[in-house]
Amino acid sequence: MNMRHRRGINLAPPGDYAVDLARETLGSLPEMYVLVAACPACLKKSPIDRWELGRKVGKRTTLADLAKKLKCLSCDNRANNRFLIGKLPRD
Ligand SMILES: [Zn+2]
Repeated sequence: MNMRHRRGINLAPPGDYAVDLARETLGSLPEMYVLVAACPACLKKSPIDRWELGRKVGKRTTLADLAKKLKCLSCDNRANNRFLIGKLPRD
């Protein structure tokens, strides 16, 4: 199921974009992709600043490992948070 970002970016599970979270890192993920963290507990979706995150945790951690470290800003849930991916419009 796709969700509409408020800026009109279509969010989808990584598989829809053929992005393999176990292989891609913040450094390898093409720049046209944006990351959004989705919390399964409260359903909040939080945009991630991938550049800022890269400076904090390094660019070599796989996205799958990063997902395990996510904490929901809304309810503090740490379990099973996942990434959704959006593709920036090329205009
Ligand atoms: Zn939450």
